[in-house]
Amino acid sequence: MRTIKRDAPILLEVNNLSTDFLVAGQEPAHALVDINFRLREGEVLGIVGESGCGKTTLMLSLMRLLPANGRITSGQINFMNNDLLDLSEREMGDVRWKNIAMIFQGAMNALNPVHTVGRQIAEAIIQHNYITDKKAVTDRVVELLELVGIGAERKDQYPHQYSGGMRQRAMIAMALACNPQVVIADEPTTALDVMIQAQILELLGTLRDKLGLSILFVTHDLGVVAEMCDTVLVMYGGVTAEYANVDTIFNAPQHPYTQELLRAFPDLTKPMEKLISIPGYPPRLNALPAGCRFAPRCPHAFGRCHVEAPPLHGVQDRHFASCHLVEPESNISPETPEFPGKSNEL
Ligand code: SF4
Repeated sequence: MRTIKRDAPILLEVNNLSTDFLVAGQEPAHALVDINFRLREGEVLGIVGESGCGKTTLMLSLMRLLPANGRITSGQINFMNNDLLDLSEREMGDVRWKNIAMIFQGAMNALNPVHTVGRQIAEAIIQHNYITDKKAVTDRVVELLELVGIGAERKDQYPHQYSGGMRQRAMIAMALACNPQVVIADEPTTALDVMIQAQILELLGTLRDKLGLSILFVTHDLGVVAEMCDTVLVMYGGVTAEYANVDTIFNAPQHPYTQELLRAFPDLTKPMEKLISIPGYPPRLNALPAGCRFAPRCPHAFGRCHVEAPPLHGVQDRHFASCHLVEPESNISPETPEFPGKSNEL
Protein backbone atom coordinates (compact mmCIF):
# COMPACT_ATOMS: atom_id res chain seq x y z
CA MET A 1 0.00 0.00 0.00
CA ARG A 2 1.29 3.48 -0.86
CA THR A 3 1.38 5.92 2.01
CA ILE A 4 0.21 9.46 1.44
CA LYS A 5 2.31 11.96 3.33
CA ARG A 6 0.32 13.15 6.33
CA ASP A 7 1.46 16.68 5.71
CA ALA A 8 0.72 16.67 1.97
CA PRO A 9 -1.39 19.77 1.26
CA ILE A 10 -5.16 19.35 1.09
CA LEU A 11 -6.29 20.27 -2.42
CA LEU A 12 -9.99 19.60 -2.17
CA GLU A 13 -12.17 19.57 0.92
CA VAL A 14 -15.87 18.83 0.79
CA ASN A 15 -17.92 19.81 3.82
CA ASN A 16 -21.51 18.69 4.46
CA LEU A 17 -22.40 18.63 0.78
CA SER A 18 -26.07 17.86 0.06
CA THR A 19 -27.79 17.64 -3.32
CA ASP A 20 -31.47 17.19 -4.20
CA PHE A 21 -33.20 16.32 -7.45
CA LEU A 22 -36.58 17.95 -8.04
CA VAL A 23 -39.23 15.89 -9.79
CA ALA A 24 -42.58 17.51 -10.69
CA GLY A 25 -45.37 16.44 -8.34
CA GLN A 26 -43.05 14.42 -6.10
CA GLU A 27 -41.01 14.95 -2.97
CA PRO A 28 -37.41 16.04 -3.76
CA ALA A 29 -35.01 13.11 -4.00
CA HIS A 30 -32.22 13.62 -1.43
CA ALA A 31 -29.44 12.24 -3.59
CA LEU A 32 -26.57 13.36 -1.35
CA VAL A 33 -26.74 14.17 2.35
CA ASP A 34 -23.89 15.74 4.31
CA ILE A 35 -20.97 14.26 2.38
CA ASN A 36 -17.54 15.09 3.83
CA PHE A 37 -14.10 14.19 2.56
CA ARG A 38 -10.76 15.68 1.72
CA LEU A 39 -8.26 14.95 -0.99
CA ARG A 40 -4.56 15.54 -0.56
CA GLU A 41 -1.90 16.18 -3.18
CA GLY A 42 -1.03 12.85 -4.84
CA GLU A 43 -3.85 10.95 -3.11
CA VAL A 44 -6.25 8.57 -4.83
CA LEU A 45 -9.61 8.54 -3.06
CA GLY A 46 -11.99 5.76 -4.10
CA ILE A 47 -15.72 6.54 -4.09
CA VAL A 48 -17.45 3.18 -3.81
CA GLY A 49 -20.99 1.85 -3.73
CA GLU A 50 -23.72 0.20 -5.76
CA SER A 51 -25.43 1.89 -8.71
CA GLY A 52 -27.68 4.68 -7.48
CA CYS A 53 -25.71 5.34 -4.27
CA GLY A 54 -24.83 8.88 -5.37
CA LYS A 55 -21.28 8.44 -6.70
CA THR A 56 -21.86 10.14 -10.03
CA THR A 57 -24.13 12.79 -8.45
CA LEU A 58 -21.27 13.62 -6.11
CA MET A 59 -18.85 14.04 -9.01
CA LEU A 60 -21.30 16.16 -11.01
CA SER A 61 -21.93 18.29 -7.90
CA LEU A 62 -18.18 18.87 -7.52
CA MET A 63 -17.93 19.98 -11.15
CA ARG A 64 -21.21 21.92 -10.86
CA LEU A 65 -22.49 20.01 -13.88
CA LEU A 66 -25.74 18.72 -12.40
CA PRO A 67 -28.72 18.33 -14.73
CA ALA A 68 -31.32 21.13 -14.69
CA ASN A 69 -33.40 19.53 -11.91
CA GLY A 70 -30.38 19.01 -9.61
CA ARG A 71 -29.76 21.47 -6.72
CA ILE A 72 -26.87 21.67 -4.27
CA THR A 73 -28.81 22.53 -1.11
CA SER A 74 -25.95 22.99 1.37
CA GLY A 75 -22.26 22.55 2.01
CA GLN A 76 -18.91 23.76 0.76
CA ILE A 77 -16.50 22.54 -1.92
CA ASN A 78 -13.19 24.12 -0.95
CA PHE A 79 -10.60 23.90 -3.68
CA MET A 80 -7.28 25.58 -2.98
CA ASN A 81 -8.97 27.88 -0.46
CA ASN A 82 -11.90 28.89 -2.70
CA ASP A 83 -15.44 27.61 -2.19
CA LEU A 84 -16.43 26.48 -5.69
CA LEU A 85 -20.08 27.10 -4.78
CA ASP A 86 -19.33 30.84 -4.49
CA LEU A 87 -17.84 31.12 -8.00
CA SER A 88 -19.76 32.57 -10.93
CA GLU A 89 -20.48 30.19 -13.81
CA ARG A 90 -17.68 31.86 -15.78
CA GLU A 91 -15.18 31.45 -12.94
CA MET A 92 -16.27 27.84 -12.53
CA GLY A 93 -15.68 27.34 -16.26
CA ASP A 94 -12.04 28.29 -15.66
CA VAL A 95 -11.71 25.74 -12.86
CA ARG A 96 -13.11 22.93 -15.00
CA TRP A 97 -10.40 21.25 -17.02
CA LYS A 98 -7.64 23.67 -15.92
CA ASN A 99 -7.83 22.65 -12.25
CA ILE A 100 -10.31 19.77 -12.01
CA ALA A 101 -10.85 17.54 -15.04
CA MET A 102 -13.02 14.49 -15.56
CA ILE A 103 -12.58 11.18 -17.35
CA PHE A 104 -16.13 10.23 -18.27
CA GLN A 105 -17.63 6.73 -18.37
CA GLY A 106 -17.82 5.01 -21.76
CA ALA A 107 -15.15 6.48 -24.04
CA MET A 108 -17.08 5.57 -27.21
CA ASN A 109 -20.02 7.72 -26.12
CA ALA A 110 -17.91 10.54 -24.73
CA LEU A 111 -15.82 10.99 -27.90
CA ASN A 112 -17.40 12.69 -30.91
CA PRO A 113 -17.41 10.15 -33.79
CA VAL A 114 -17.21 12.80 -36.55
CA HIS A 115 -14.02 14.52 -35.35
CA THR A 116 -10.51 13.12 -35.16
CA VAL A 117 -9.19 12.31 -31.71
CA GLY A 118 -6.41 14.90 -32.12
CA ARG A 119 -8.91 17.62 -32.94
CA GLN A 120 -11.02 16.78 -29.89
CA ILE A 121 -8.01 17.00 -27.57
CA ALA A 122 -6.99 20.28 -29.25
CA GLU A 123 -10.50 21.66 -28.66
CA ALA A 124 -10.20 21.03 -24.92
CA ILE A 125 -6.89 22.95 -24.92
CA ILE A 126 -8.21 25.88 -26.99
CA GLN A 127 -11.61 26.17 -25.30
CA HIS A 128 -9.98 26.60 -21.92
CA ASN A 129 -7.36 29.01 -23.26
CA TYR A 130 -4.58 26.79 -21.94
CA ILE A 131 -2.53 27.40 -25.12
CA THR A 132 -3.61 29.56 -28.06
CA ASP A 133 -0.69 29.29 -30.51
CA LYS A 134 -1.69 26.78 -33.22
CA LYS A 135 1.67 25.04 -33.47
CA ALA A 136 1.97 24.81 -29.69
CA VAL A 137 -1.51 23.26 -29.51
CA THR A 138 -0.50 20.56 -32.02
CA ASP A 139 2.70 19.90 -30.07
CA ARG A 140 0.67 19.58 -26.85
CA VAL A 141 -1.74 17.11 -28.50
CA VAL A 142 1.19 14.94 -29.58
CA GLU A 143 2.78 15.21 -26.13
CA LEU A 144 -0.48 14.13 -24.47
CA LEU A 145 -1.04 11.21 -26.81
CA GLU A 146 2.50 9.98 -26.23
CA LEU A 147 2.05 10.43 -22.47
CA VAL A 148 -0.81 7.91 -22.57
CA GLY A 149 1.00 5.51 -24.92
CA ILE A 150 -0.55 6.47 -28.27
CA GLY A 151 1.75 7.22 -31.21
CA ALA A 152 1.58 10.72 -32.71
CA GLU A 153 0.64 9.20 -36.09
CA ARG A 154 -2.78 8.25 -34.64
CA LYS A 155 -3.83 11.83 -33.87
CA ASP A 156 -5.63 12.28 -37.21
CA GLN A 157 -7.67 9.11 -36.84
CA TYR A 158 -11.32 8.93 -35.75
CA PRO A 159 -12.58 7.23 -32.57
CA HIS A 160 -13.89 4.21 -34.49
CA GLN A 161 -10.34 3.55 -35.70
CA TYR A 162 -9.17 3.18 -32.09
CA SER A 163 -9.58 0.06 -29.95
CA GLY A 164 -11.60 0.34 -26.70
CA GLY A 165 -8.42 0.66 -24.64
CA MET A 166 -7.01 3.36 -26.94
CA ARG A 167 -10.23 5.35 -26.74
CA GLN A 168 -10.02 5.27 -22.97
CA ARG A 169 -6.38 6.39 -23.18
CA ALA A 170 -7.50 9.25 -25.45
CA MET A 171 -10.09 10.26 -22.83
CA ILE A 172 -7.33 10.34 -20.22
CA ALA A 173 -5.17 12.47 -22.56
CA MET A 174 -8.11 14.87 -22.96
CA ALA A 175 -8.59 15.12 -19.20
CA LEU A 176 -4.89 15.99 -18.81
CA ALA A 177 -4.98 18.56 -21.63
CA CYS A 178 -4.73 21.61 -19.37
CA ASN A 179 -2.53 20.04 -16.71
CA PRO A 180 -5.15 19.81 -13.90
CA GLN A 181 -4.29 19.16 -10.25
CA VAL A 182 -7.33 16.92 -9.67
CA VAL A 183 -8.76 14.29 -12.01
CA ILE A 184 -12.16 12.72 -11.47
CA ALA A 185 -12.21 9.25 -13.02
CA ASP A 186 -15.83 8.10 -13.28
CA GLU A 187 -15.79 4.30 -13.72
CA PRO A 188 -12.99 4.62 -16.32
CA THR A 189 -12.54 0.85 -16.73
CA THR A 190 -16.14 -0.34 -16.60
CA ALA A 191 -16.63 -1.34 -20.25
CA LEU A 192 -13.15 -2.78 -20.76
CA ASP A 193 -11.98 -6.39 -20.64
CA VAL A 194 -9.69 -7.34 -17.76
CA MET A 195 -6.43 -7.13 -19.71
CA ILE A 196 -7.17 -3.62 -20.97
CA GLN A 197 -8.52 -2.66 -17.56
CA ALA A 198 -5.18 -3.64 -16.01
CA GLN A 199 -3.33 -1.51 -18.59
CA ILE A 200 -5.52 1.53 -17.92
CA LEU A 201 -5.07 1.18 -14.15
CA GLU A 202 -1.33 0.89 -14.62
CA LEU A 203 -1.37 4.00 -16.81
CA LEU A 204 -3.36 5.98 -14.23
CA GLY A 205 -0.96 4.87 -11.49
CA THR A 206 2.03 5.94 -13.58
CA LEU A 207 0.46 9.31 -14.36
CA ARG A 208 -0.38 9.86 -10.69
CA ASP A 209 3.27 9.29 -9.75
CA LYS A 210 4.75 11.17 -12.72
CA LEU A 211 2.47 14.22 -12.63
CA GLY A 212 1.63 14.23 -8.90
CA LEU A 213 -2.06 13.95 -9.74
CA SER A 214 -4.76 13.69 -7.12
CA ILE A 215 -7.53 11.38 -8.30
CA LEU A 216 -11.13 10.83 -7.26
CA PHE A 217 -11.76 7.31 -8.49
CA VAL A 218 -15.42 6.38 -8.81
CA THR A 219 -16.02 2.65 -9.03
CA HIS A 220 -18.17 -0.24 -7.87
CA ASP A 221 -15.26 -2.66 -8.30
CA LEU A 222 -13.44 -3.42 -5.04
CA GLY A 223 -10.55 -5.02 -6.96
CA VAL A 224 -9.90 -1.67 -8.61
CA VAL A 225 -10.09 0.04 -5.22
CA ALA A 226 -7.51 -2.33 -3.74
CA GLU A 227 -5.24 -1.72 -6.72
CA MET A 228 -5.51 2.05 -7.02
CA CYS A 229 -6.75 3.82 -3.92
CA ASP A 230 -5.17 5.24 -0.78
CA THR A 231 -8.40 6.13 0.96
CA VAL A 232 -12.00 5.03 0.43
CA LEU A 233 -15.40 6.65 0.88
CA VAL A 234 -18.14 3.99 0.91
CA MET A 235 -21.52 5.47 -0.01
CA TYR A 236 -24.99 4.01 0.45
CA GLY A 237 -28.24 5.69 -0.55
CA GLY A 238 -26.60 9.13 -0.83
CA VAL A 239 -24.91 9.11 2.59
CA THR A 240 -21.46 8.13 3.87
CA ALA A 241 -21.44 4.59 5.22
CA GLU A 242 -17.71 4.47 5.96
CA TYR A 243 -14.59 6.51 5.30
CA ALA A 244 -11.06 5.29 6.04
CA ASN A 245 -7.76 4.36 4.45
CA VAL A 246 -7.85 1.41 2.06
CA ASP A 247 -6.11 -0.97 4.44
CA THR A 248 -8.72 -0.36 7.16
CA ILE A 249 -11.63 -0.73 4.74
CA PHE A 250 -10.38 -4.16 3.60
CA ASN A 251 -9.11 -5.47 6.94
CA ALA A 252 -11.25 -3.87 9.64
CA PRO A 253 -14.50 -2.58 8.10
CA GLN A 254 -17.01 -1.44 10.73
CA HIS A 255 -20.14 -0.67 8.74
CA PRO A 256 -22.36 -3.67 7.90
CA TYR A 257 -22.73 -2.42 4.32
CA THR A 258 -18.95 -2.36 3.79
CA GLN A 259 -18.73 -5.82 5.36
CA GLU A 260 -21.44 -7.17 3.03
CA LEU A 261 -19.81 -5.55 -0.02
CA LEU A 262 -16.54 -7.30 0.84
CA ARG A 263 -18.33 -10.63 1.39
CA ALA A 264 -19.85 -10.28 -2.09
CA PHE A 265 -16.37 -9.88 -3.58
CA PRO A 266 -14.67 -13.16 -4.60
CA ASP A 267 -11.46 -13.99 -2.74
CA LEU A 268 -9.13 -15.71 -5.21
CA THR A 269 -6.85 -16.94 -2.42
CA LYS A 270 -9.61 -19.14 -0.88
CA PRO A 271 -11.33 -22.29 -2.23
CA MET A 272 -14.07 -21.51 -4.73
CA GLU A 273 -17.47 -21.02 -3.09
CA LYS A 274 -20.87 -19.64 -4.01
CA LEU A 275 -20.82 -15.85 -4.28
CA ILE A 276 -22.81 -14.02 -1.62
CA SER A 277 -25.05 -11.15 -2.68
CA ILE A 278 -26.69 -8.45 -0.58
CA PRO A 279 -30.43 -9.19 -0.60
CA GLY A 280 -32.84 -6.47 -1.73
CA TYR A 281 -32.19 -3.27 -3.64
CA PRO A 282 -30.74 0.15 -2.89
CA PRO A 283 -33.42 2.60 -1.68
CA ARG A 284 -35.36 4.87 -4.01
CA LEU A 285 -34.15 8.35 -3.16
CA ASN A 286 -37.63 9.88 -3.15
CA ALA A 287 -39.04 7.10 -0.97
CA LEU A 288 -36.35 6.55 1.63
CA PRO A 289 -36.90 4.25 4.60
CA ALA A 290 -37.14 5.85 8.04
CA GLY A 291 -33.98 5.69 10.14
CA CYS A 292 -30.89 4.07 8.64
CA ARG A 293 -31.08 3.88 4.84
CA PHE A 294 -29.46 0.42 4.90
CA ALA A 295 -31.88 -0.99 7.51
CA PRO A 296 -34.17 -2.94 5.10
CA ARG A 297 -31.13 -4.93 3.86
CA CYS A 298 -28.94 -4.97 6.94
CA PRO A 299 -28.40 -8.37 8.63
CA HIS A 300 -27.84 -6.61 11.99
CA ALA A 301 -30.75 -4.14 11.95
CA PHE A 302 -32.59 -3.70 15.25
CA GLY A 303 -35.44 -1.48 16.45
CA ARG A 304 -33.55 1.82 16.68
CA CYS A 305 -32.24 1.42 13.11
CA HIS A 306 -35.77 1.78 11.72
CA VAL A 307 -36.48 5.10 13.43
CA GLU A 308 -33.21 6.96 13.86
CA ALA A 309 -30.61 7.71 11.19
CA PRO A 310 -27.13 6.96 12.54
CA PRO A 311 -24.73 9.93 12.47
CA LEU A 312 -21.18 9.59 11.17
CA HIS A 313 -18.99 8.57 14.12
CA GLY A 314 -15.26 8.69 14.50
CA VAL A 315 -14.36 5.02 15.07
CA GLN A 316 -10.69 5.57 15.64
CA ASP A 317 -7.95 7.73 14.23
CA ARG A 318 -8.92 8.54 10.61
CA HIS A 319 -11.74 6.02 10.45
CA PHE A 320 -15.41 7.04 10.33
CA ALA A 321 -18.64 5.04 10.01
CA SER A 322 -22.37 5.71 10.33
CA CYS A 323 -23.96 2.82 12.19
CA HIS A 324 -25.65 2.52 15.59
CA LEU A 325 -23.58 -0.58 16.34
CA VAL A 326 -20.27 1.21 15.93
CA GLU A 327 -18.75 2.31 19.18
CA PRO A 328 -17.94 5.99 18.71
CA GLU A 329 -14.52 7.18 19.72
CA SER A 330 -15.39 9.74 22.37
CA ASN A 331 -12.51 12.01 21.40
CA ILE A 332 -13.70 12.34 17.80
CA SER A 333 -17.01 14.15 17.35
CA PRO A 334 -18.25 16.47 14.60
CA GLU A 335 -16.96 19.34 16.74
CA THR A 336 -13.35 18.11 16.84
CA PRO A 337 -10.79 18.88 14.15
CA GLU A 338 -10.15 15.17 13.38
CA PHE A 339 -13.62 14.91 11.88
CA PRO A 340 -13.75 14.94 8.06
CA GLY A 341 -14.58 18.39 6.85
CA LYS A 342 -12.55 20.07 9.60
CA SER A 343 -9.28 20.53 7.72
CA ASN A 344 -7.35 17.90 9.55
CA GLU A 345 -5.72 14.55 8.95
CA LEU A 346 -7.24 11.46 7.42
FE1 SF4 B 1 -27.45 -1.91 10.11
FE2 SF4 B 1 -28.60 -0.49 12.04
FE3 SF4 B 1 -26.05 -0.13 11.48
FE4 SF4 B 1 -27.92 0.69 9.79
S1 SF4 B 1 -27.54 1.48 11.84
S2 SF4 B 1 -26.04 -0.36 9.25
S3 SF4 B 1 -29.41 -0.92 10.00
S4 SF4 B 1 -26.97 -1.99 12.29
